[in-house]
Amino acid sequence: MDFFPIFLKLTGQSCLVVGGGEVALRKVRLLLEAGARVNVAAPALNAELAGMAERGEIAHLNARYASEQLSGMRLAIAATDDAAVNRQVAEDAEALGILVNVVDDAELSRYISPAIIDRSPLMIAVASGGSVPVLARQIRARLESLIPAGYGRLARFAASFRDEVKARFDNIDARRRFWESVLEGQLAETVMNGDEAAARAEMASRIEAGGCEPAGAVYLVGAGPGNPDLLTFRALRLMQLADVVLYDKLVAPELLNMARRDAERVYVGKARANHALPQDDINQLMVKLARQGKRVLRLKGGDPFTFGRGGEEIATLAENGIAFEVVPGITSASGAAAYAGIPLTHRDYAQSVTFVTGHKQDGSIELDWPALTRPQQTVVVYMGVSTAAELCQAFIEHGRAAETPAAAVEWATTERQRTVCGTLSSLPGLMASHGIASPALIIVGEVVSLADKLSWYRRSSDSAVTIQED
Ligand code: SAH
Repeated sequence: MDFFPIFLKLTGQSCLVVGGGEVALRKVRLLLEAGARVNVAAPALNAELAGMAERGEIAHLNARYASEQLSGMRLAIAATDDAAVNRQVAEDAEALGILVNVVDDAELSRYISPAIIDRSPLMIAVASGGSVPVLARQIRARLESLIPAGYGRLARFAASFRDEVKARFDNIDARRRFWESVLEGQLAETVMNGDEAAARAEMASRIEAGGCEPAGAVYLVGAGPGNPDLLTFRALRLMQLADVVLYDKLVAPELLNMARRDAERVYVGKARANHALPQDDINQLMVKLARQGKRVLRLKGGDPFTFGRGGEEIATLAENGIAFEVVPGITSASGAAAYAGIPLTHRDYAQSVTFVTGHKQDGSIELDWPALTRPQQTVVVYMGVSTAAELCQAFIEHGRAAETPAAAVEWATTERQRTVCGTLSSLPGLMASHGIASPALIIVGEVVSLADKLSWYRRSSDSAVTIQED
């Protein structure tokens, strides 16, 4: 161990920062966050530091560095661009037994500043012994994404019950089990979502009951368009916490692999005509599992509230008094647009965008054609592969020009993505000759003509090509 990790209480303690530039400013900010009394020694301050001095947030020692400035300090930071001054600060501080850090110089430093993830009172520090700070920062970035922003709140909440829980459970194992059930359960989610009052009430009744099983809940989670990188942090976290995952056809296997290893996985997928489980059975299954105390994750392709029947699923939960939460996902229209280089709106070409379904209700496509065929807009059709020919024909019949650019994007954002670009009149033929199948979106509007210039996600493999029509 090259450095001994500690956390330092600096509230009200005097610290000296030598230097008046950008680097010094960063250090000053951190010290102020820790509640330190900050003195800055520098003949000149940059604008922000000067403002802080004016507002009395820091004390400005308007002079070059001199060793007397160290008197009474707990900690010193040398942040000048003058190596000789930095070395002097380090030597003087060492002689006085003051903790010293020289920015970017672990050799001269008594302590080094780690990369931090701040969920106060929970604090995570990562250091590389000063040798590869970029690596420490990378690890920090990864942890940032895994540790929810609400953890600080959760830590404060738990701390406020510490004595009460200790008094209630004198057996240390029982106490640990109790805390595990609280911190890994739905109650923790309630706290992190900010409903402190509900969480306090639940906590009080659990302490009184001496534990009790965690209450079940359902998370209706959007898994995004298919590329696992496009999952939200929240979706990933809930996947790693859920006891049961209900998924359907659009959810890629790579995504499912991210669920907790021992979570039960249930396929409830619906192909358009061949329903694996009727919607009502899915709804009832979720109610049943949640009543057993399970945390159920209903994973849906794209966004659960965009052609996802998410509204119907949670209506049943609400009627049955089951706790639930909805997590948005990137809808496939956004995914396809970004990965195919087709902006959905554009100042010159489209001032609005409409998402519609090409799915037939009772044998016909019921859409508001006069509205959809107005110029200067983009229309994205979900579930329109099998009706593509009829759809494109209807656009033309209702007045949109036959040469309006139109594209189909299949398996958008995944390694299987293929984009076929043409016009309203040529697209159905192109889709058929290239064998474009579901899941695919059809995008209609002038913005499609930008794909040629803006597409960046071209796959070099044969099964994934961008085809441009002359
Ligand atoms: N809730 C989903 C949509 C479900 S409806 C969402 O927000 O994206 C199913 C339709 O979504 C498919 O028929 C197809 O049109 C579209 N879709 C879903 N994922 C897709 C993908 N990766 N590429 C292209 N289209 C996709």
